[in-house]
Parts: sequence; C-alpha cells; structure tokens
Amino acid sequence: MTFENTKAFAQQLDSQDKLHNYRSEFIFPKVNNKEVVYFTGNSLGLQPKRTKAYVDEVMDDWANLAVEGHFYAEKPWWDYHERFAAPLSKIVGALPSEVTVMNTLTVNLHLLMVSFYQPTATRFKIICEEKAFPSDQYMFQSQVDFHGYAPEDAIVEIKRREGEHNIRLEDVLAKIEEVGDELALVLIGGVNYYTGQVFDMKTITAVGHKAGAKVGWDLAHAAGNIKLELHDWDVDFAAWCSYKYMNSGPGNASGVFVHEKHHNANLPRFAGWWGHNKERRFKMEPKFDAVHGADGWQISNLPVLSLAPYLASVDMFAEIGMDALIEKRNKITSYLEFILQEIDKEVDSSFEIITPSNPSERASQLSVLLHGEGRSLFDYLMENGVIVDWREPNVIRLAPVPLYCSFEDMYNFGQILKQGILK
Ligand SMILES: *Cc1c(COP(=O)(O)O)cnc(C)c1O
Repeated sequence: MTFENTKAFAQQLDSQDKLHNYRSEFIFPKVNNKEVVYFTGNSLGLQPKRTKAYVDEVMDDWANLAVEGHFYAEKPWWDYHERFAAPLSKIVGALPSEVTVMNTLTVNLHLLMVSFYQPTATRFKIICEEKAFPSDQYMFQSQVDFHGYAPEDAIVEIKRREGEHNIRLEDVLAKIEEVGDELALVLIGGVNYYTGQVFDMKTITAVGHKAGAKVGWDLAHAAGNIKLELHDWDVDFAAWCSYKYMNSGPGNASGVFVHEKHHNANLPRFAGWWGHNKERRFKMEPKFDAVHGADGWQISNLPVLSLAPYLASVDMFAEIGMDALIEKRNKITSYLEFILQEIDKEVDSSFEIITPSNPSERASQLSVLLHGEGRSLFDYLMENGVIVDWREPNVIRLAPVPLYCSFEDMYNFGQILKQGILK
C-alpha cells in the first residue's frame, strides 16, 4: 500500500480500521486541553473505561459480603484467577492449564528459575541477550550467586555485532551451540524492550533444547503485542507483566506459563497454600500437594483488587483476538515508519530507526535514534501532547498501540515532530 502524509489520508485509514471504535473505550490524558498522542503503551497502557466496573464489583462484594466474598461473590475470590485461564491461554498460545496469574514479573521469573534453573558442576550456564532489561540482569546475577557460581563464568550474553543495533538469530544459535553441554538455561526477552526486536522464539527454543538446556522467555513486551504459540513452540516456561500492552494498571500482576510436559515432573518449587490441592486447600493439611498445571506454582491467596483490572483487559483482548490486533498493528507501525521517513526528508534531519525494518522481526514499537537532536526535542514533544519515552543516549521509543492509537495520531505526531525540529 502506498501511504500519504496527509490528514485526509490518515482519516481514511481510520475509517477503514475495524478496531477504531475501541479507541473510545480508553481514557486519554489531556495536554493543553487536548487528548494526547500516546506512544508509551509499551510502558504503561491506557486505562480502559470498563476497568472501573470490574474493580467496583470487588469493592462492592467486599462491602456487602466481607469474608463471605471468598465463596459467595458473583466472581468468588478464592478461585478468581481461574477466570483467566481460557482467555489468557488464547492470547499467549497455550492450553488453559498452562497459564496462571500471580505476583509480579521479576518475582515470577525468580520463582520459575527455582524450578527451571538447576545448575550442576558441569551444566550451569545461562544464555541471555546483551543489555537485557536491568531487572533481568540483577535476577541472573543474584540467581547464579545464590547457587554458588560467579556471574562472569555463568552468565553468557549474546552480543550485537560491531555497528549493528540488533542481535542476529544466527549469533544466538551459534552461541547456544558453543556453550553446548555447559548450558543450563536460555532466558531472553521475547521482544527487546529497547529496540523492539522480536526474536524467533520457536527456533531458539528448539536449538536450546537440542543443547540439553531449558528455555524460558521474558514476555514483558510480547504479551498482547505479538502472536505467541508457547505450547506449540515447546517453551518450558514464560512470564509477562500486564501493565504494558495489556493495560491492567501500574505495577500490576504478572502472567505465567508452564508447559504441560512439566506439570507432572515433580520439579523443585517454592510452595504456598494457593498452589495446594484445590479440593483440600482449606483442610489445612501439613503436606503440600501441588495443583495440577501452572496454578500449582501459586503461593499466596490472590490480590483480587489487582486482578480485577487485569481481567477487564483480558476479556477485551479475548473479544478482539490477536489476529485482528496484529493486522492493525502492522499497518499502523508501517504508517508511523512512513511518517518518520517523510518528516526526515522534509527537515533534512537524520533519524535512524534502529528497530528491524523486517515486519516479522518487529511489532508495536519503533525506536528512533535522533542523531542530530537532543533532549530538547523530547521536551517539545511532551509539551505538545506527544507522550513518548526517552532512553539514553538519545533514543525515543514510539509504540503506536493498535488498540487505541489512530492513524490520524501518526499524522499529527509527524507535524508536531517537524515543528519541534524546525523551531
Ligand atoms: C518491564 C519489564 C520488566 C519489569 O519487571 P517488573 O518485575 O514488573 O517490575 C522486566 N523485564 C522486562 C524485559 C521488561 O520489559
């Protein structure tokens, strides 16, 4: 499709967009009395209007039923998490028994490492990507340290080649083969938080298994953003947060995937009463008997007030389906790329989009290296109602989230960007 950098063309794309009505289901902050162009749904998604009703329901049940709400609320609290299994499993390509919701992301990755990182004297290395999200780096360091290994021996990073912004698949596979018999675990961000690069999880998982390692994925930037087939890809485990593309609110609960093949495997785990046999949970028995499936990794009773917004979001995603979302995502991301290139030509600047240009290696994010521009451009955008984020040295990350961003937003952004540069 040939795009045009005009308001009329952008509006025409909006009129053809099947998801366009979902935009009015979200609450946009305002700057200068106008709704913002929101590019940071990869950091904190906007609030859906329907979310409040889900939270109010829990508040009302608590007011009216108090402790009885555990069993007699319309959505009883004691098994509230089970309402996620069907819709969430579709979003991440899993069986319902393979997903659950609990805790927060880094906490869950730690808990999953208890089960899936069991180093031995000869097989103790972890492969991750260079410059992984800091929380993941701290997690790896503290985990290997806990097991008595030195991070510099046990953590192997896959590097970018000199002068390149993204990691090559062939380099990931070569590193896995090189570490070989010493490799205990591969754990990478499925979508890189900085560049937006999407990894070929299917191939990497298969090659990791061939080397005899477990393979897990941090899906913080992937859940609700890309098509996942965790079960079919034979992924051992994964976890994601819900407040980025999944719009569940600040710091909210995390989702977890544990492949069916591990459900009976008697893996080590840190247990708690919410992972204990469902029928006998309240018999207060002394010996732990894990629930079959990912729910067996539950520990504490549920933060129902947090899960309510997440459930609102999961219900919305289930209604739409990932395929429709991805179709719009590809189009709006390409349109944003086109707008950036057009503005770049008009102002003779030198942006460099460091996100892969191949649509199969990217999703909802374009990271732009602003060679000639500084922090003042970022400030100008923010003051003029374009919410982007800034990462050192001078990269702005733009996520044209398909659920609530419009093509007209992309056009408007281009105009504000141009004014900001020419100013
Ligand atoms: C956002 C993000 C996190 C955040 O972890 P929390 O435990 O939810 O604070 C972790 N890893 C990656 C890759 C992220 O992008």
